[in-house]
Amino acid sequence: MEASLSRLLTGLLVYISRSDGRVHLATVKSVDGVNSSIMVEWLERSIGRRKEVSSSKNEAHRPNQKFYDMIQDFRETLEVTPLSASDLVEAHRICVCVRKRPLSKQEVKKKEIDVVSVRGKGAVLVHEPKQKVDLTKYLDNQVFQFDYCFDETSTNDLVYRFTAKPLVQSIFEGAMATCFAYGQTGSGKTHTMGGDFTGKLQNSSKGIYALAAQDVFALLSQRRYASLDLCPYVSFFEIYKGKVYDLLNKKAELRVLEDDRQQVQVVGLQEEYVSSVEEVIKMIEMGSTCRTSGQTSANANSSRSHAVLQIALRCSDRAKTLHGKFSLVDLAGNERGTDVSCNDRSTLVETAEINRSLLALTECIRSLGRNSDHIPFRMSTLTKVLRDSFIGEKSRTCMIATVSPGMASCDYTMNTLRYFLVFFHFPQTSYNIE
Ligand code: ADP
Ligand code: MG
Repeated sequence: MEASLSRLLTGLLVYISRSDGRVHLATVKSVDGVNSSIMVEWLERSIGRRKEVSSSKNEAHRPNQKFYDMIQDFRETLEVTPLSASDLVEAHRICVCVRKRPLSKQEVKKKEIDVVSVRGKGAVLVHEPKQKVDLTKYLDNQVFQFDYCFDETSTNDLVYRFTAKPLVQSIFEGAMATCFAYGQTGSGKTHTMGGDFTGKLQNSSKGIYALAAQDVFALLSQRRYASLDLCPYVSFFEIYKGKVYDLLNKKAELRVLEDDRQQVQVVGLQEEYVSSVEEVIKMIEMGSTCRTSGQTSANANSSRSHAVLQIALRCSDRAKTLHGKFSLVDLAGNERGTDVSCNDRSTLVETAEINRSLLALTECIRSLGRNSDHIPFRMSTLTKVLRDSFIGEKSRTCMIATVSPGMASCDYTMNTLRYFLVFFHFPQTSYNIE
């Protein structure tokens, strides 16, 4: 190249760019006495200019096209091995997972950018769009490590298999188990726990609630557990602003009492005996309808309340002694009230209560992880009613963080993932790409 460039050159040059590693074609008209480094510089500059023009043209089509391109380029370099049903299900005392939902139809229509990439079993990346003072755009790629990460193609069945399913067996062995869905409103908590939606209609047989109930009945009929003579009971309630409402009894308000032995009781809570999974599904439908009824978008308090479905296994003795219990919790949206347009007193109380209960939950799960004697369960109603779940060596917990993939939700997504880091010792890594 050096030799030919020192003379006149006319023709087509095939050139591999240093900046993007791609092949470019350049038409060369007349170059006389130019050395190769100047030629390379000239080619790189013209490639850069062409990119700028094409991206400014595309900006008109999609807001933030530049970020979109950067994320796409980044994804091309990512090696992705999605979790599959044939992967090993590990036994964790506290299992922490992330589930990314797909962009919704409206988001696709608005040309929203997907800023979350699930790399494989345990790693998820958030490509945080950022801008320097000189307005150069760059991506801050944050990598988070969890026990399992589910991408947007994962079904409730797959999520269930790795999260709640292993806990069902533990309640037959006398444990208290809890499974939480935690995340921003609209990120997929109710879809995961209660079942997927077709429009506004929810398929209650396809959520983690129903899948867990199905396995409870399957195990009850197994010979190794049949001799225990256990009976399943279901209760379903909601906690809103620190008060408990029975979803199986027209949202009757219930009191939470603690006796001298620190036993917590939800007084008057309906706990119904169930004999088939169909019965449980009916109760889930009834409770879910009760939860969302009378609600307007201005008062969407189902996203501001925690819903708790409990499946208790009781011995068939007279006292109906509790053998094991599984609590499945669809938590209130974790957005910190920053997006709440009306800052009236009631909304502030609501937000404060949610924050308090989510903080209390972290503290209780951490105590469980440390086998600590001191469980700060009195910090909130949620942790009070779940007190049993945080004690005993057999107790097991699973947290599922649900995240929205859109760029508009990026801050909330980061908040959700950072909240989960407290359960781990892994450092969070990040690297920038311009
Ligand atoms: P949340 O309970 O966290 O507020 P929802 O479960 O109501 O969120 O989900 C919000 C919307 O996103 C619903 O329309 C739901 O159907 C959809 N959605 C959530 N998760 C998924 C998913 N994994 N796959 C497809 N759609 C989903
Ligand atoms: Mg919900």
